[in-house]
Amino acid sequence: MKKFLLSEDEIPHHWYNVLPDLPAALPPYLHPATQHTLKPADLEALLPRHVIEQEFTTERWVEIPEEVRDTYKMWRPTPLYRAERLERALDTPARIYYKFEGTSPPGSHKANTAIPQVYYNAREGVRRVTTETGAGQWGSALSFAGSLFDVEVAVYMVRASFDQKPYRRNLMETWGASVAASPSELTKAGREVLAREPDSPGSLGLAISEAVEDALSREDTRFALGSAMNHVVLHQTVIGLEAKRQMEMSGDAPDVVVGCVGGGSNFSGLAFPFMAEGLANGGALPRILAAEPAACPTLSRGRYGYDHPDTAGLGPLLPMRSLGSGFIPAPIHAGGLRFHGDAPTLCLLHESGHVEARALQQNEVFREAVRFARSEGFVIAPESAHALRGAVQEALAARAANEDRTILFGLSGHGHFDLAAFDAFLAGRLEDYDLTDEQIRASLETMPRTAPVGE
Ligand SMILES: *Cc1c(COP(=O)(O)O)cnc(C)c1O
Repeated sequence: MKKFLLSEDEIPHHWYNVLPDLPAALPPYLHPATQHTLKPADLEALLPRHVIEQEFTTERWVEIPEEVRDTYKMWRPTPLYRAERLERALDTPARIYYKFEGTSPPGSHKANTAIPQVYYNAREGVRRVTTETGAGQWGSALSFAGSLFDVEVAVYMVRASFDQKPYRRNLMETWGASVAASPSELTKAGREVLAREPDSPGSLGLAISEAVEDALSREDTRFALGSAMNHVVLHQTVIGLEAKRQMEMSGDAPDVVVGCVGGGSNFSGLAFPFMAEGLANGGALPRILAAEPAACPTLSRGRYGYDHPDTAGLGPLLPMRSLGSGFIPAPIHAGGLRFHGDAPTLCLLHESGHVEARALQQNEVFREAVRFARSEGFVIAPESAHALRGAVQEALAARAANEDRTILFGLSGHGHFDLAAFDAFLAGRLEDYDLTDEQIRASLETMPRTAPVGE
């Protein structure tokens, strides 16, 4: 197995911001109530000042604070592997590399943004941070960060996962966080849903609404979002910046970069640094491929327009491809990919043709995760297995064409908390889901009526 390692000194000193290099200006966010252009000050009750600044900045390089870099050293730089055993199993002439983010204490890339977000909150005197979590990866990353900087963390966890996946909740509580099942009695948004539907399984959009409402109701509390927004994508670029150096060490350059997309943060964090020079100078770019679940095909089948990140419509209107904030995805096991929208920067690069998207069914994805476990050894998250499946499809296409191809994919996290899903797959109990055009149309109806993006 070939493994490319960097030293601690080689952790990047700056995050890369794609905003100045986009092919068109990023359309403004809109205020959720007035639909006027959102001003940074409108976010002050929700986010710490430094994070707001990072959300809007058009500086290409943003300095990583020394305390954050120091904390990154707990597990960064992360390794880059060449998947030689997988290549042999596939009998492909393609070379496959993967950047492995599963080595962080909470087990995924989400720690890359949890650390700076909690750090900025702590520095600005915020005592308590709220958030949503689906399967629990983001909640556990934030709980981990809270324990390091002595900030209280309150997590609203989607009820379905809360009941079915107790281990992530145990992990959050071990790091000292408090976890409520969403919908909860703690917020108006939660109580309204419970009154209508006492057994509601909840959704990510609703959990965001509860966490936002909680943060808005208390002076000492702010909100933290695990994906989609510019500052989150910015923090995740440590992945791609490291991977670029590691690919240079390998002597190869990727022809195609593949990642899985939930809200788009690990994908963009890996891909944007590989696009930077090409976007800035109009030079050649690698192909950039986004893998998403067929049960939540935001880029493949959503509509580009303004939408809220949450169901109650408390969050700002973001210019993005969306399935509608009322979209309730089927209960696939890649919980981290069940989000109705995607990062505005990623959506813009998809609109401009710089990013391709591909929707995948969960059985083909799990089949690939099992082949990977039996060749490369790691048992990976179902989310990450979408990226893997996309990469394998590329490798098989290279074999069919008898063509040289270098493939890099993002392995966003380990699958040690997903073994019940592997069990279901191995027992032949996993379902594939096909959304009809009618279902998609009905869901798109839940997008708010606004002016078109860019006007
Ligand atoms: C949350 C999560 C994702 C999806 O989130 P993005 O913001 O799209 O990166 C992917 N993989 C893992 C392991 C996750 O925890």
